[in-house]
Parts: sequence; C-alpha cells; structure tokens
Amino acid sequence: MDCIFCKITQKQLPSDIVFENNKMTVITDINPKAPKHLLIIPKEHIESVNELSENNKDLIAEMILLAKDTARQQGIEKGYKLVFNVGRPGGQVIFHLHLHLLGGWHQETHEVHI
Ligand code: 5GP
Ligand code: ZN
Repeated sequence: MDCIFCKITQKQLPSDIVFENNKMTVITDINPKAPKHLLIIPKEHIESVNELSENNKDLIAEMILLAKDTARQQGIEKGYKLVFNVGRPGGQVIFHLHLHLLGGWHQETHEVHI
C-alpha cells in the first residue's frame, strides 16, 4: 500500500523513532509546529478517526496513554496538546491515523487556544 506512515512504521522509510512496541510507533514530526512535536502512530492502517469503531476501543486508549507517557518522557508533561486532524477540511494530509503530541512551550499560561 502506498502509505507514508505504513512505510515509516514498517521501516521502509527512515524516521526519528522515539518509541516503538508491537502496536505503535512514536516519531518526531518532520515539520514541527511546536518546540516538541511528536506523532503517535498505530501500526495498523486505519485512515482516520472517522473509520474507528467500537472494535478499536483498546487501540484508542493505548494511543492516549502512550501520548501521556511520551509527554513525560519528553519532559513536557506540565502542558501539551493532543490533536487528531480528521479529513481534509480538518487539516489531515496523511490518511493513516495518528495523534499529534505538541508541547514544550515555556509560558506558565499558554496563549494559543483552539
Ligand atoms: P496531519 O496533517 O495529516 O494530521 O499530519 C501529518 C503530519 O505528518 C504533519 O505534521 C507533517 O509534518 C508530518 N509528516 C509528513 N510527512 C512526514 C515524514 O515523512 N516524516 C515525519 N516524521 N513526519 C511527516
Ligand atoms: Zn498506512
């Protein structure tokens, strides 16, 4: 399948992998939108949140828990954002499910709100 994140998780394309287990790969984003920007990517090819079902409850929980653990490992646990872009109008450009972990700002009070 011609999917960049399948190729990255299968190591057919290089990336900066910060964590990996049998179900997930965590990489640094190639074009960071925050001082720290990581992507939590399940190895299973699912296009987007819109393709998730009840069967994926464990996977969804694991993504969020792994994002939390990664935030701590990266030293940004005091404040961060978790973002799913869904569909082209929602800003999604890679149609393989991924959770953005954004953080590393130094202000006590964050000024950017979505
Ligand atoms: P989306 O907009 O689909 O939610 O997010 C895709 C993200 O993947 C973007 O933030 C983009 O910078 C990142 N990205 C795109 N291609 C690559 C790549 O080849 N390697 C890495 N590490 N990140 C990528
Ligand atoms: Zn894929």
